[in-house]
Amino acid sequence: MEEEEYIKKHFFGLVYAWHITQYQWLRNNYWKAEELHIREGILGKLDIESVVTSGEYTKEEIDDLILLTPIELEKELFNRLMEKHYDKIVLNKCPRCDKLARTPFAKQCKYCRYDWH
Ligand SMILES: [Zn+2]
Repeated sequence: MEEEEYIKKHFFGLVYAWHITQYQWLRNNYWKAEELHIREGILGKLDIESVVTSGEYTKEEIDDLILLTPIELEKELFNRLMEKHYDKIVLNKCPRCDKLARTPFAKQCKYCRYDWH
């Protein structure tokens, strides 16, 4: 469980989790075009097109994803991350106690205080 949280926290960007969840939230809360327009005027346009041009998703895939509940969506994004980007996920573990460090680049253990600088 801790491992899953760590992976989400540090690697969810690989599947554009923030973009997709923001997009879903916008679609659910500002479904009327004029409202969305006003909201974009205040907070800036969410650049979902850049997610499509990245090649990670097709527009159709994104449209399907945002129909899920937020909990299902998070699960789906996590599964996708583990399937498609497993090779990029680095579990930074303490060489002494083998527990997860705070970040992928940390060089000190938050449990046993071991320092591997
Ligand atoms: Zn340790």
